[in-house]
This record gives sequence, C-alpha cells and structure tokens, in this order.
Amino acid sequence: MPENPDAGGETATAALRDRLQEVEARAAAACRRSGRPREEVLLMAVSKQHPLSAILEAASLGISRFGENRVPEFQQKHAELEKRGEFELARRFHCIGHVQSNKAQRAAGLFASIDTLDSVRLALKLNDAAAERGEPLPVMVEIKLSHEPAKSGLEPESVELQALLERLPDLHRLSLMGLMTVPPFTADAETARPYFRRLRLLRDSLAVAHPRLRFDALSMGMSHDFPVAIEEGATVIRVGTALFGRRRPAAPLPVC
Ligand SMILES: *Cc1c(COP(=O)(O)O)cnc(C)c1O
Repeated sequence: MPENPDAGGETATAALRDRLQEVEARAAAACRRSGRPREEVLLMAVSKQHPLSAILEAASLGISRFGENRVPEFQQKHAELEKRGEFELARRFHCIGHVQSNKAQRAAGLFASIDTLDSVRLALKLNDAAAERGEPLPVMVEIKLSHEPAKSGLEPESVELQALLERLPDLHRLSLMGLMTVPPFTADAETARPYFRRLRLLRDSLAVAHPRLRFDALSMGMSHDFPVAIEEGATVIRVGTALFGRRRPAAPLPVC
C-alpha cells in the first residue's frame, strides 16, 4: 500500500481532516496562551512536492492560502488547476522559495504574493512584471537571522536591506505586506523562539524607520514550531508536513 495514495478519495481526505483538526487545535491553544484572537493568524498550507489531489482536498476542507517554493512546479500545478476550471483556487498561492531573477516575470504572473523578496534587483523585475496585473503585487521581505551561507534572505543590519526598503515606496506595482523568515532548523521548537522574537522586534523598528511602508504581516513558524511562532507574534504560519504528511521527492512527469 502506498502510504499517501495520489488517488485522493475518502481515506486521504479523512487523514487530512484529522491532521487539520490537530493543527487547528494547537494553533488555537497557542493563540489562547498569548491572548491573541485566532483570526489574527492565517494558516498557509505548504503543498510543495504534494500532488494536486492534496491541494483540492485541503481547499475542500476550507484552507484558503497555499505556499509553493518552486516556480516550475507551481507553473505545472497552476496550469492543471486552470484546466479543471479552478481559477479562484489557482490564485491563492504564495511563493515561499527563493526566486531567481530570470523567473521573476513568470513568478509575478502565477503567484498571489511573493513572500521571499530579497534584493533590489528582484524587486525591480517584479515591479516591471506586475504591470500586467490589474493591481499591485503583494510581497514580503525575507529576512535571514542566522549566518547560514546556503540560506536566502537579507540580514537585518545589511546595506542590501536598507537599499531595498528605501527603494520599495517608489515601486508602485509592489505592495509590501511584511517580513518572512525561516530560522535554522532544530528539532526543539524552543530554539526558534529567539529568532521569531527578533523578527517581531525588527518589524517594529523598521515600521518606525520607514513610515511610508507597511510591515503588518509576520510570516514565521512551520510544522514543528508554529505554536512558538504564534506566541511570538506570527500572523502567517506556513505548515506543510503536519497537514500533508511527509513530502515526496519531485516526481518525473507522467508519460502519456
Ligand atoms: C517547506 C517549507 C515550509 C513547510 O515546512 P514543514 O516543516 O513541512 O511544515 C515552510 N516554509 C518554507 C519556506 C518552506 O520551504
């Protein structure tokens, strides 16, 4: 028996419903502990490396926001959603992976929001590409709070971050929503707490320093640490594994 059948159907939906209930209960408990209304925290379902059937099931259970991290993978899913007439659902995906400049045009056309803005160069490309949209493209700036070389995002004290924030108010086709971060991975969620706190404090100080920009959203917290992120002020939690189970490596395209 495959552990997570592509076919979807009753069993898969029941499993997803159970996991969603569990995530919801933990999110609600974290909100209660920190005196926050549950509506302040958006649950984003991270569907990367999961099949379209999982997305359709999640949508049927009321999930309203999705995250994907690769432009080509989402381009394919987007096309399949449109082929099925799921136009509204196809517009509910955020980009949560690094966007290479040469994919900026495509990303701006496919995603509802780019949550990983990390350079002036990318901002300029997205701003140009967003001309084809009827409305501004929402973006979040990705912040790197550790010194891991492989990780993308801008460091809080960097000149690159300053340059980007000085430029953004004049890029009228981009609409800044807030900050996003991925702390270094450790199994113990408490280890992530200082990073989450630091992102909130950074948001507060940037909001004062850049009054022409809005920084309301804080996208932080994943399957293993989202309750801690909520306690530290997350407004968006990005949950994959805890909803959909283990990811499968990118599958080769089916031969027809
Ligand atoms: C994959 C991913 C997630 C979800 O991770 P899980 O541990 O499966 O919840 C969240 N954020 C980003 C940026 C990701 O790439």
